[in-house]
Amino acid sequence: MLISTEQLEQRVGELGLEISRDYADKDLVMVGVLRGAVIFIADLLRQLEVPCEIDFMAVSSYGSSRDSSGVVRILKDLDDSITGRDVLIVEDIVDSGLTLNYLMRNLQARDPASIEVCSLLTKPERRRVEIPIRYVGFEIPNTFVVGYGLDYGQHYRNLDYVAELPDDTEPSL
Ligand code: 5GP
Repeated sequence: MLISTEQLEQRVGELGLEISRDYADKDLVMVGVLRGAVIFIADLLRQLEVPCEIDFMAVSSYGSSRDSSGVVRILKDLDDSITGRDVLIVEDIVDSGLTLNYLMRNLQARDPASIEVCSLLTKPERRRVEIPIRYVGFEIPNTFVVGYGLDYGQHYRNLDYVAELPDDTEPSL
């Protein structure tokens, strides 16, 4: 185990307070990135004390199951327009940063009033493009993690803590 249920609960509460403070007079739309951010966004949403809408995007990054290539395909786009609105992208984890870099450029082109990022986890050592992440849950070392929404081959999303996946875990699991 890398991050316990209690640590997750506490940090998500802190992020909720911070975001509520920063977006008090804004027109907040949280954009959850499917599928990994589902549990995080659901918990974060319940900690917000300001009006907010949620929308979702699904992207797939070409590459192996542990490395993204930066070539991103949109599998599901937002349902509503974000023009003139204050967008907060909610991610599970920023690794190389390539996926988020693509996503930010894509959403920026739709003329939101502002665009910021909230990521539960970040692996700074692995970064290949610098991206400003306004809200970070936890910085973690260069290791592959699962749980609290994060998967490996679609498994482990249901763990209510974040765990390191051993290097020798079979890709089929
Ligand atoms: P990036 O484009 O920043 O390299 O990768 C971002 C995406 O790769 C994340 O949204 C997530 O889906 C996946 N990813 C990166 N690192 C991990 C990890 O340690 N565990 C899991 N389960 N997914 C990861």
